[in-house]
Amino acid sequence: MPAFSLDPDHTAWCAELRALAGERLRPLAEKSEPGHVNRPLVAELGRLGLLDRLFGSGALDLCLMRESLARTCTEAETALALQGLGAHPVHAHGTPAQRDRWLPAVREGTAIAAFALTEPGAGSDAAALSLTAAPDGPAGWRLTGGKCWISNAPEADFYTVFARTTPGAGARGVTAFLVPADRPGLTGTALDMLSPHPIGALDFDAVPVTADDVLGEPDRGFRVAMGTLNLFRPSVGAFAVGMAQAALDATLEHTARREAFGGPLRDRQTVAHQVAEMALRTEAARLMVYAAATAYDDGAADVPKRAAMAKLLATETAQYVVDRAVQLHGARALRRGHLLEHLYREVRAPRVYEGASEIQREIIAKELYREAQ
Ligand SMILES: Cc1cc2nc3c(=O)[nH]c(=O)nc-3n(C[C@H](O)[C@H](O)[C@H](O)COP(=O)(O)OP(=O)(O)OC[C@H]3O[C@@H](n4cnc5c(N)ncnc54)[C@H](O)[C@@H]3O)c2cc1C
Repeated sequence: MPAFSLDPDHTAWCAELRALAGERLRPLAEKSEPGHVNRPLVAELGRLGLLDRLFGSGALDLCLMRESLARTCTEAETALALQGLGAHPVHAHGTPAQRDRWLPAVREGTAIAAFALTEPGAGSDAAALSLTAAPDGPAGWRLTGGKCWISNAPEADFYTVFARTTPGAGARGVTAFLVPADRPGLTGTALDMLSPHPIGALDFDAVPVTADDVLGEPDRGFRVAMGTLNLFRPSVGAFAVGMAQAALDATLEHTARREAFGGPLRDRQTVAHQVAEMALRTEAARLMVYAAATAYDDGAADVPKRAAMAKLLATETAQYVVDRAVQLHGARALRRGHLLEHLYREVRAPRVYEGASEIQREIIAKELYREAQ
């Protein structure tokens, strides 16, 4: 499929997703309690069959779901994405027993997943992580340390946890574990963030894990993390594109209606040209997201570079577009509860998580020099 256009089935599906988000998901999202997982919302995502499509349907499907939901209901979008981020390592690297235990419940929205990579001392430099997996008997470890800024923590039902099995080995000494939330020694606290979804810190006090809990192979967990991020980075871009489009839609409507100085705002050339610029940049970001997702689905060699480019361009673009939209709406956009006030809070964090914009540039440059060798 060409990267620059969607086929009619995809276009119709996106329209259907936007309608479902408005009719079935937004009413549930409006009942969200700040800092808590909205379980009825996740269960509805399951009933609608959307969580099912997270696994094995490809990156373009994931991006179209995220873009379409974000345009109408960012809470539903994020709840969907977090199920995917937390459970993708189980889908891609889990044993049959791990997959059977968790994936049906994730798909139906009755088990909440989370992806626990970041630590107080290891954010952008994820390979510096120090959550210790100390040997405990012939086929076990004890996890000791902390994770922070983990979406869905501490209310998730299981965590994909990245821990250090070989000290001093950097990225080569990390193992991915599937840790159910009820393991003894695992506790957590919620963190109050600008970003409107539940986030917390986790504390591991000699939490027991065995070979049955390993995702993939011991000491090969960093690949599990990076493989997951290569799939999810373009989709963070899709989330951003959906938010940018929502801000643009609102701005088109508002500037056509709002009268000032004897006519609608849209008759001012500086206003109309800003709207054109917002649309131009949103469309460019969208095309780059679709191209990166298509490259992932085709198994292209340059996925890390394209994924980084898509995430970088789309998240920076969305910040610009939402900021412009706020400006063109004036004071009303800053009133609590306004769509743009919500988007203004939502749009900031994606420039930091799953690799800050500076880290995406690092990846792009590294890949460019590697290709040039
Ligand atoms: C809303 C939200 C949700 C999150 N959810 C999760 C989650 O579910 N799971 C998870 O594991 N983590 C999660 N995170 C954590 C996120 O991945 C980290 O915040 C991110 O990797 C950056 O790490 P840090 O915050 O420690 O910043 P630091 O690594 O301390 O970096 C701070 C800043 O320094 C600059 N910088 C860093 N390195 C470089 C460099 N090499 N070159 C130039 N500049 C650089 C960048 O501007 C960067 O933003 C979440 C974060 C947020 C905000």
